[in-house]
Amino acid sequence: MKIDNILSSLEAKHPGEPEFLQAVKEVLMSIEEIYNRHPEFEKARIIERLVEPDRIFTFKVPWVDDKGDVQVNLGYRVQFNNAIGPYKGGLRFHASVNLSTLKFLGFEQTFKNALTTLPMGGAKGGSDFNVKGKSNAEIMRFCQAFMLELWRNIGPDTDVPAGDIGVGGREIGYLYGMYKKLARENTGTFTGKGLDYGGSLIRPEATGFGGLYFVNEMLKAKGIDIKGKTVAISGFGNVAWGAALKATELGAKVVTISGPDGYIYDPDGISGEKIDYMLELRNSGEDIVAPYAEEFKSATFFAGKRPWEQKVDIALPCAIQNELNEHDAQQLINNNVTCVAEISNMGCTAEAVDLFVEKKVLFAPGKAVNAGGVATSGLEMTQNAMHIQWTAEEVDAKLQQIMKNIHAQSIKYGAEKDGYINYVKGANIAGFMKVASAMMAQGIV
Ligand code: GLU
Repeated sequence: MKIDNILSSLEAKHPGEPEFLQAVKEVLMSIEEIYNRHPEFEKARIIERLVEPDRIFTFKVPWVDDKGDVQVNLGYRVQFNNAIGPYKGGLRFHASVNLSTLKFLGFEQTFKNALTTLPMGGAKGGSDFNVKGKSNAEIMRFCQAFMLELWRNIGPDTDVPAGDIGVGGREIGYLYGMYKKLARENTGTFTGKGLDYGGSLIRPEATGFGGLYFVNEMLKAKGIDIKGKTVAISGFGNVAWGAALKATELGAKVVTISGPDGYIYDPDGISGEKIDYMLELRNSGEDIVAPYAEEFKSATFFAGKRPWEQKVDIALPCAIQNELNEHDAQQLINNNVTCVAEISNMGCTAEAVDLFVEKKVLFAPGKAVNAGGVATSGLEMTQNAMHIQWTAEEVDAKLQQIMKNIHAQSIKYGAEKDGYINYVKGANIAGFMKVASAMMAQGIV
């Protein structure tokens, strides 16, 4: 495999997709050695076939706002790879959404879903629609207009969307309601649904909970106890919420959250009612964290800054891609950080990841750490297919088992001679080997 050739041909074919190229490059660098040991992969052009999505749907989403004005957004669904199961992955509604973002997310999702051990292929979709400042009625009309176009291309055994940034329980409800009306079936072609209509217990918490189960495994493998450790979290949405809850439950102390306006540092710990308050902030629709420091006097708000400048034991990006850069990584290293784990997808820039690996920092990538979210979506699909609902304990036990398993797979392929575990390499190889052998078995399709 000639990584440079593959990347430059991708760049020539699809100019202006830096996030996608970043994600592809990371995977190719990790798997190069093992790929070259399998000439049958090269012969079947596995890489060339893996870096192109199976298909992409792009559509316009016209809708009417509360003032009666017509708005037009772009909608997408990238069905990336279905070698190991139906396409599966979230929808992101955010002003930054474009094809590069969704292709990188769909590519990552393919390997992440493989790591869960559940039969799910990779997909991603969304829109440049910004939920901030929109009324409930506007969000409903937008979701309905979006689904009017997408419904034909999804189904319980073809493609199962879910939430992501900007798409939470409310949006899933509106999307699924319209889907059912159009498709005239009730097969749960969405995960993250409400508990009253086919959703799974623990799904809202799952990404954050799974992330902390993974971090705990990383620490345990090094003989470190998570109790009493300080934790910096970024973001204040659903993922940050689940992570803060589980970190606190495991005895760690969460000292930061952040928003587009800056970050909050609360040395007393963000726990209990403060975590509930985080949800209130999110539900206000303002997309700012500054009011936290007025509500809780122990906290300070740092406008326009990121939490990585604080001295902490554990750093958990939980917001968006490339939210932790090389400078941030250096600051964390200078402050003797013990562990950094991406709960957001590709939360760290390539330079930051390289620095962590070079300095042998305990670091793990999003596709391993945050796989608990989509894994629990897989468990929701199973419950829907069986027409039953598992208890929270049953789902949580399965989630814990899956995260342990992902950790074990990462060690299998990522342990280096000096004892350092390169989780980036481990997770990429484990995910890739599963997808590649499934592709090999199914011929050139
Ligand atoms: N958006 C989440 C992710 O990045 C969840 C996807 C899903 O549940 O299908 O994995």
